[in-house]
Amino acid sequence: MTHDATSVKRDVGKIKRLGIMGGTFDPIHYGHLVTAEVARVKFGLDVVVFVPSGVPPHKHGVEISPGRDRYMMTVLATATNPYFEVSRVELDRPGPSYTVDTVREFRTRYGPGTELYFITGADAAVEIFTWKDAHELLKMCAFIVATRPGYCTTRLEAELGRARAVSTHGVFVLEVPALAISSTDIRARVKHGDPIRYLLPESVENYIRKAGLYL
Ligand code: NAP
Repeated sequence: MTHDATSVKRDVGKIKRLGIMGGTFDPIHYGHLVTAEVARVKFGLDVVVFVPSGVPPHKHGVEISPGRDRYMMTVLATATNPYFEVSRVELDRPGPSYTVDTVREFRTRYGPGTELYFITGADAAVEIFTWKDAHELLKMCAFIVATRPGYCTTRLEAELGRARAVSTHGVFVLEVPALAISSTDIRARVKHGDPIRYLLPESVENYIRKAGLYL
């Protein structure tokens, strides 16, 4: 498995803890970037690899931007952080982008000496038992579940309790105030001509304007 052409050359054997930041990133914004950085510091991750979804298995009939645009925005947004990388693994794999397949590929690449932490949002993680091979997945990596402030935790705690009972690596919750920013809101703002400045990196805003996304 190769990451993108912007990947820094790293000694794979030296990476003890790897974050895998899974999301659609349509578009990527400061909420995602803060989540990855807080998780990196809190869990002592050596690298966080952003993995834009190829064909999200749970989004039948939902229009999403082309993978090429979501990948470009993710590369632009992460370029200034030496601990962040972007992987094309889901974009280049045909068929639905199942997380279990992605984590398997990372496991093969990094070997048993690297602990894997899959990082994603609470709305996605709360559905984990509907994901492909959920039990196996929970035994392959730890989960870091990012919540917005005020996120209703009753169902989340119930589902994460079930997940913890299966997991061998841990399921952790991270409250990230910056996740008040959302991709859905940004897309609506672009459509209605409202400002998006300061919600996402300027380079990503410029890309959105140039590519004519979300109009
Ligand atoms: P989503 O339904 O678009 O997003 C769910 C919520 O989580 C949204 O509020 C979203 O905010 C937030 N979010 C998404 N990714 C995040 C991240 N990395 N950090 C912080 N917040 C995040 O979910 P999605 O993005 O399509 O899926 C999330 C991940 O779960 C992906 O890697 C996907 O492949 C995986 N997944 C796998 C399966 C499966 O294997 N069967 C099924 C479902 C999801 P924004 O809208 O602002 O991003």
